[in-house]
Amino acid sequence: EQNHLIARLRAASLGQDDRVFAESPGCAPISFGALFAGAECMAAALQTLGVEPGDRVAVQVEKTIEAIQLYLGTVMAGGVFLPLNTAYTTPEVAYFLGDATPRVVVCDPAREADIAGITGDAKVMTLDANGSGSMADAASAQTGFLPVARAADDLAAILYTSGTTGRSKGAMLSHDNLSSNSETLRDTWRFTDRDVLIHALPIFHTHGLFVATNVALLAGASVVFLAKFDADAILEAMPRATSLMGVPTFYTRLLDDPRLDRTRAANMRLFISGSAPLLVDTHEKWEARTGHRILERYGMTETNMSTSNPYEGERRAGTVGFPLPRVEARIRLKGEEVAQGEIGVLEVRGPNVFQGYWQMPEKTAEELLPDGWFITGDLAKMDADGYVTIVGRDKDLVITGGFNVYPKEVESLIDDLPGIKESAVIGVPHPDFGEAVVAVVVPEGDAPAPEAITEPLAAQLAKFKQPKSVIFLSELPRNTMGKVQKKALRETYANLFQ
Ligand code: ATP
Ligand code: MG
Repeated sequence: EQNHLIARLRAASLGQDDRVFAESPGCAPISFGALFAGAECMAAALQTLGVEPGDRVAVQVEKTIEAIQLYLGTVMAGGVFLPLNTAYTTPEVAYFLGDATPRVVVCDPAREADIAGITGDAKVMTLDANGSGSMADAASAQTGFLPVARAADDLAAILYTSGTTGRSKGAMLSHDNLSSNSETLRDTWRFTDRDVLIHALPIFHTHGLFVATNVALLAGASVVFLAKFDADAILEAMPRATSLMGVPTFYTRLLDDPRLDRTRAANMRLFISGSAPLLVDTHEKWEARTGHRILERYGMTETNMSTSNPYEGERRAGTVGFPLPRVEARIRLKGEEVAQGEIGVLEVRGPNVFQGYWQMPEKTAEELLPDGWFITGDLAKMDADGYVTIVGRDKDLVITGGFNVYPKEVESLIDDLPGIKESAVIGVPHPDFGEAVVAVVVPEGDAPAPEAITEPLAAQLAKFKQPKSVIFLSELPRNTMGKVQKKALRETYANLFQ
């Protein structure tokens, strides 16, 4: 009997132990053999610490190869990997640990004392930014490990959502949720063992952990492993790399660097973006500068990836492409599918869809229907060619005087105005209208007068969609995944009309 996920992640590199899996600036390359041998030692150490099949291993550590080995080792030991954003404070971590009751918690040594105070019965181990610590020591005392048998439906991970719309929820992901989606992505995006992927995303989130890491492993591809986004390191690696996975801010920040050009991107075959909407402007500038059209895809913690622009064929800017193979998608409103081109809530079904929210049966029942359809909470529409466009989140919809305003419609018009970098349209409480449309706008240079926004919009939008107030900021609040924090904006401007 096999360990479903590990057997698949290992298959592409079996018998090729000497091939390089990862290179990092200033470090010796790590071979596939060394990667998996280290992961086995982590698994053995976790088992010695008491981890049994189904036990959670919570991990809040910097991005290192050892952290990847800890992920693989947890799954090998039959455990459930539970990564946490390194930015979370001790009280925030306390919530996750209380919710998930892990057997082992691995944290940075600098936080060991704090974390030890909130872990209950869990054992606390450490791993630092160099991959050293008591967890690494415990692993190095081991010699090898035969992965524990796990079936397709057994849990491999609990991944908490980003907390953009409210308190983070633990998405329970099975071995097959992860392997099936990564296999689909590998095939759709044509990853092979000749690929060199620039891996600069955090590994506490689905994008860097399951999309980037699992796809590279399944393909037997190697990675340029960067601890975080670093424009210098990415541009340095680009001439020998073939692919990059990034959030939209990666692309805007790279565009700010004059060294980005066609020559530097000549060996690249694929630039992928996701986790937040990519501006059409970024897409166009990227193509003009590098000759490559960014491939935008869409997914979420609960579903892994659900749609992607095509590898061959038109990558349509502003859209997230088509449902992936084996993934079904439909757009509904009040239980009815909308007409083509109309906006509704996107629902998806397929082997990618999670097993439910950890210890939230009611929330699970609301969003995961008995026939397998998952209500994403994202508003979307589909054009005549089948391309899906994400219009925003249903929680960000503005209802003003009884009318629905889709922020994206207003944002797109504002973003197209001269001298405007980007915008976020939100609803804030208003005594007459319930909510009022407010535009938070980032200008390219000095802030213009508000009329520079409101006048052109007045010609294009129905009165109720027009912003009742325009606020200029030098940048929008974003989290580490580049997601605009509309909840924070709504809180900041809650009293604008009160
Ligand atoms: P929470 O569920 O806790 O509020 P979150 O939804 O931001 O947080 P994630 O699972 O990390 O947590 O993010 C998934 C969401 O990211 C999607 O539901 C969607 O709103 C957004 N998203 C991902 N990719 C894209 C994309 N290409 N374009 C637009 N939005 C995207
Ligand atoms: Mg979400």
